[in-house]
Amino acid sequence: MNRDQYIHRLQKETFDLCIIGGGASGAGCALDAALRGLKVALIEKTDFAAETSSKSTKLVHGGVRYLEQAFKSLDFAQLRQVQHGLEERHIVLQNAPHLARPLALITPVFNWWENLYFSIGLKLYDWFASRKDNLPKSRRLSKSDTLRRMPGLTRKIHSAVLYYDGQIDDARYCLALVQSAAAAGAIVSNHLEVIGFQKNEAGKLSAALVKDHLSKEDFTIKSNLFLNCTGPFADRVRQLANPGLTPRIRPSKGVHVILPHATLDSGEALLIPETRDGRVVFAIPFESELLLGTTDDEYNDLDKEPALLGGEVDFLLETLQPFLEKQIDRRHIKAGFGGLRPLVAPPMRERNGSAPGTSTSGKDASPLPVGGAERATKSLLRDHEVEHDGASNLLSLLGGKWTTYRLMAKDAVDVACKLLDIRAECRTATHLLVGAEGWDNAFWKKIMTDFGFDADISQHLAQKYGTRAVIPATLAAEYAELAERLIPGFPYLKAEVIYAVREEMACTIRDFLARRIRLEITDWEAALDAAPRVAKLMGDELGWTTNRQSDAAAAYADLLKSFQKMADTDHTGK
Ligand SMILES: Cc1cc2nc3c(=O)[nH]c(=O)nc-3n(C[C@H](O)[C@H](O)[C@H](O)COP(=O)(O)OP(=O)(O)OC[C@H]3O[C@@H](n4cnc5c(N)ncnc54)[C@H](O)[C@@H]3O)c2cc1C
Repeated sequence: MNRDQYIHRLQKETFDLCIIGGGASGAGCALDAALRGLKVALIEKTDFAAETSSKSTKLVHGGVRYLEQAFKSLDFAQLRQVQHGLEERHIVLQNAPHLARPLALITPVFNWWENLYFSIGLKLYDWFASRKDNLPKSRRLSKSDTLRRMPGLTRKIHSAVLYYDGQIDDARYCLALVQSAAAAGAIVSNHLEVIGFQKNEAGKLSAALVKDHLSKEDFTIKSNLFLNCTGPFADRVRQLANPGLTPRIRPSKGVHVILPHATLDSGEALLIPETRDGRVVFAIPFESELLLGTTDDEYNDLDKEPALLGGEVDFLLETLQPFLEKQIDRRHIKAGFGGLRPLVAPPMRERNGSAPGTSTSGKDASPLPVGGAERATKSLLRDHEVEHDGASNLLSLLGGKWTTYRLMAKDAVDVACKLLDIRAECRTATHLLVGAEGWDNAFWKKIMTDFGFDADISQHLAQKYGTRAVIPATLAAEYAELAERLIPGFPYLKAEVIYAVREEMACTIRDFLARRIRLEITDWEAALDAAPRVAKLMGDELGWTTNRQSDAAAAYADLLKSFQKMADTDHTGK
């Protein structure tokens, strides 16, 4: 993925489909469309997965809470959404097994009645999943079995129920989709923002005006169709194309904190079935630590990164504490982050009785009043919708969740093909992503034998890069300095910085530390420690002056320190 060459082609060529936004939705669409033979451009304002798609809970699931809500309120749309998630779950796991794995989740209960209630619910969940999945079925656990599996739990529990879902490394999964799209012929670039459109005489979009945030230059990209996949920012792009469109997105903020792995001391996840605001919270092993989240609050300041605040830290810790044997407090927090769910408010036609989620392809996207303004974001459906604005010809993929990215992409690209009069079938259901070809659970042993790395480094490389791990490993084998650990005690190699710049389009320190490896979201102090070394390696590779390297490292350190400060300030953000 050579950014300079791709930008040259973006400036010169005309595309069938230009996809705006490089999160799960946009990357999924790029792969789907490229595999169908369309000439595809994918452009991303910051970095691939820089927004919501790197800040999720990282579960691939139908959603046990959504199933409960569906039954309690006899909501068939909700039920259909659970089914979509469960149908897609095994595909997500199967197409990139190095980045996705089955995850056991334990729900401790405090009396026999709760055990019965959750066991019945999870049997239903199994039943909905059973047609395609081969994950183990749910079952009850005795108190002693539960404490053996999760020693950090309080001794006050009665017993537990256990079930399975999937877990992904979200940012790297998104990158694998982008790389796979590029391998299938798509032209992709990060750090390019759509800031306007040009239209033809009929008022239809003919080109996008983009700003290159690295070179600071503007240029246009010509395409027959534009697909807006900008998640929480979708209304901005819709209104750039047609200022008359009514907003549809209700961004909802969700935060996570990272605690030491020893908090639960388990390779399995904890599900807390009911918070004081009526949701579920997960505590999940991730990158050798424990990921705790999430919250669900309306958020409207899209220009400001939704950072973790002290009040939110307290809420999550207070929610977890009753399940723990030991006391935890803010001093245990290692890192944290916030993201924005791109929830879609139901349009007027849904209130009038027609099915939600239907594409308005071929018709004008009539200015639909924002429905559901009175509903809390936690009650809004996580389903997706493909919208076609007949006036400007902009196609938008709205809402959805990580788990269903492939189905969302299929629905959007089906409509795109119809509009472009191209007949081609979706091929993503069985398409292995880059790094998955020839990979199995023992691949790390081959890396260890062939390159002589320690076990933790070999496992890390095999899990993050799949069979592509041989490329950074070979770099490390050729240059002794690159075989060193980036920071002591962590499995990351210096060679990975060079690999990420050359092969994964990493352009900034944050691209590398937050999304190529996940250090920024798991350990702020370690990321601060690593930043100057990353700046030097990346800067030397990209031809930065020494001043630019130190300025970049200092700016990054300021950003992380501001996150630390906000997480330690008594503020709820509400
Ligand atoms: C706290 C939280 C937890 C979640 N947990 C889960 C979970 O466990 N499982 C699950 O299935 N789902 C989960 N989700 C939902 C899931 O993460 C999102 O639905 C999904 O990541 C959205 O992807 P997206 O591509 O639509 O949006 P994004 O990832 O936000 O991507 C949109 C991209 O568009 C870019 N962009 C914006 N404007 C422009 C422009 N003008 N030009 C170019 N690019 C632009 C942005 O930079 C961004 O990268 C969670 C969400 C949150 C917030």
